[in-house]
Amino acid sequence: AHLDRVAAVDPAVHAYLHVNTDEALEDAARVDERRAAGEDLPELAGVPIAVKDVVVTRGQVTTAGSKMLEGWVPPYDASLVTELRRAGMPILGKTNMDEFAMGSSTEHSAFGPTRNPWDLDRIPGGSGGGSAAAVAAGLAPLAIGTDTGGSIRQPAAVTGTVGVKPTYGGVSRYGLIALASSLDQAGPVSRTVLDSALLHEVIGVHDPLDSTSLTDPATGLVAAARSRDLAGMRVGVVTELGGEGYQPGVRAAFDHAVELLRGAGAEVVEVSCPSFDYALAAYYLILPAEASSNLAKFDGMRYGLRVEPADGPVTAETVMAATRGAGFGDEVKRRIILGTHALSAGYYDAYYGSAQKVRTLIQRDFAAAFEQADVLVSPTAPTTAFRFGEKVDDPLAMYLNDVATIPANLAGVPGLSLPSGLSDDGLPAGFQVLAPIREDARLYRVGGVLE
Ligand code: GLN
Repeated sequence: AHLDRVAAVDPAVHAYLHVNTDEALEDAARVDERRAAGEDLPELAGVPIAVKDVVVTRGQVTTAGSKMLEGWVPPYDASLVTELRRAGMPILGKTNMDEFAMGSSTEHSAFGPTRNPWDLDRIPGGSGGGSAAAVAAGLAPLAIGTDTGGSIRQPAAVTGTVGVKPTYGGVSRYGLIALASSLDQAGPVSRTVLDSALLHEVIGVHDPLDSTSLTDPATGLVAAARSRDLAGMRVGVVTELGGEGYQPGVRAAFDHAVELLRGAGAEVVEVSCPSFDYALAAYYLILPAEASSNLAKFDGMRYGLRVEPADGPVTAETVMAATRGAGFGDEVKRRIILGTHALSAGYYDAYYGSAQKVRTLIQRDFAAAFEQADVLVSPTAPTTAFRFGEKVDDPLAMYLNDVATIPANLAGVPGLSLPSGLSDDGLPAGFQVLAPIREDARLYRVGGVLE
């Protein structure tokens, strides 16, 4: 049924870069056989899923939205994909994204943007706009996203879906095409909070192949999503997230959701995190620094695209320059240049070093805030879905979308976005919940009440 719907609807939405029709049907048939044989199957066995194209899948083209990897077929599965297969979940296909997960609109995909199912003239968020649009349009019941600065939560917010960035280390990064390794985290996208909890428990397991993988598996998430009990829960509204620059309709939807939490028994307090004002600036130094290093492997020798110079000698250096010049889009080049500059001798302390100090201040703000509140809440993104072309030529305007989601990545804390209803422009607004490290269950406890 989902494959039929993809064939009918995806030409307009373009959520998928690749659809694995045959393999998905074979995997589904295998689940049917096992069930018919009386085997006791995992809860989500047979439920199909879409996977963001930054996650490698054995035998299935994986591009990360880049010409650099056009047609590349990975020889192995990401560990989280191994978990999906173990759970008996057929993979419907790979979803569109901004190139190498850099962006907030999917307009930086080398293969054309994804359209927001709520209004096809608007962006579906980014970088994981394909996963969010697939779920919003009924092209998959569940999807996998990755979140380095908000790429699960912001697309969820602007498409009226649920997206979760687990605690850093909660889901293995083995087999993700790395953007910024100290920030990257994979997680669920779904239509309900309970669905995300079910998927989160499938992928939230320890992986010896990722040295930052947490040893304890994620448990109690489904129970928390079902508990519908907020007695004794202190909810902190973050002063710095939600004021100036936020669309009034988004703020109104947020305030309404906070009142629902209060009505359900939560104690609502206001908390201040003053260093959050510097989070965006710190992130846009740390991310390009790490990305410039991670993307150095795309050199025209090892993976994907190889371009030889039009004239002059063919050396390692000229092939590398020609390949990278042709293969990377403007936003990727911009960040590689920023990152290599920030890491260069003479500037390292001033830029990268200062950004790391800000990161520590943000972690301290979280620690202090979580003394006063069990969870923190804010709007997920400052606005609803904007129109194509509105911000694509203005990198700073694009970066401002991430202002509320980035602090969680810098501190490694888990975050969830769920719909808080419609803004006054008739488009979905997102409500963000943040919890302390390893307390992902609290996200679901709060989210479950708002569902
Ligand atoms: N919009 C952010 C960026 O462009 C988010 C990226 C992400 O989470 N992958 O960096």
